[in-house]
Amino acid sequence: MNSYELLKIGSTTLKEKKIVSFILDSELLLSKVLQTNREDLLLNLSKRVSKKDFLKYSNLIHRRSSYEPVAYILNKKEFWGKFFNVTKDTLIPRPETELMVDQLIKKYKNKKKISILDIGTGSGCIIISLLSELNNSFGVGIDISHRAINIAKKNAINHCIDTKIKFLNIPLTKYSNKKHDLIVSNPPYISTREFKYLSEDIKKFEPRIALDGGNDGLDLIKKVIYKTKEILKINGTLALEIGNKQFRKVSEILINNNFKIEFRINDYRDNVRCIIAKKLK
Ligand code: GLN
Repeated sequence: MNSYELLKIGSTTLKEKKIVSFILDSELLLSKVLQTNREDLLLNLSKRVSKKDFLKYSNLIHRRSSYEPVAYILNKKEFWGKFFNVTKDTLIPRPETELMVDQLIKKYKNKKKISILDIGTGSGCIIISLLSELNNSFGVGIDISHRAINIAKKNAINHCIDTKIKFLNIPLTKYSNKKHDLIVSNPPYISTREFKYLSEDIKKFEPRIALDGGNDGLDLIKKVIYKTKEILKINGTLALEIGNKQFRKVSEILINNNFKIEFRINDYRDNVRCIIAKKLK
C-alpha cells in the first residue's frame, strides 16, 4: 500500500469516531511513523509503505480512535513557536495560554532583568517561553508532580535555557524564596461539576490533577493568590489563567488581597481567560 491509501483508511476510521480533525490527525500520525514531516508526506503520496510501518500506523490510528490526544501520541506539542515534550503527566499546552505569554513578553521586553516564578509549571511551556525571550531574566518552575518536573527539565535543556531556570518538585506551601518580580500560573480551574462535560480526549487522558480546581474551580486559584502575597515584590505582577465565568470572583479575591487589576485578556471565544494584577504596597 502507499501513503495515500493509508491516509484514506486512517482518516475514515477517525471520521467514524467523530474526530473532527480526522484528516490532519491521520497525516500527523503517518508522518510520525515514516519519520518525515507533513509537507513531505503530502508531496510523496504514492510512496510505498512497508508492512512494518503499516502495522505501526494502524496502532497509532487505534490509539487516536480511543480519543488519545495527538500530542500524547506524538509526545510533542507546539507552543509559542517551539516544540515541547509532553506526556500524560503534563497538561497539553493550549493556544489560550500563549495569549498570556504574549502579553507578558510585551510588558517585560527591554526591561531590566526580572525574577519569575511559574506555579504548576507542567511541561514548563510558560516559563521556558518567557525566559527564551527575556534574555537576562531567570526563574523557578514548581510542580507537585515529579514526572512533570522531569519533562519540564528536559524541555529547558532542549531549548538551551536550563542555566536560567530551576525546576522544583514541591507543593506550593513548601516554597519559600527571595521575592519575585513576576509570578505566573495556569492553575487547575475546572470545577468538579464541570469536569464530566469535558471532551473524552481531555477527561480520559489529561492529568486530572492539572485540571480539577475543586468545587467551584477556585481552590487552587485562591491558594496561588494567598501564597503570592508573601513571595511577590511590591509592585510585582501576578498573571493568572482562569476559567470561564471566574473573572468576577477572582478579581474580588485579588482586590481583597491588596492587588490591583491591571489587565485582562480575552480568549478566542471572548471569555476572560487571563488576569494580570499588581501587588500594591
Ligand atoms: N503551566 C502548564 C501549562 O500552562 C501546566 C498547567 C497545569 O498543569 N495546570 O500548560
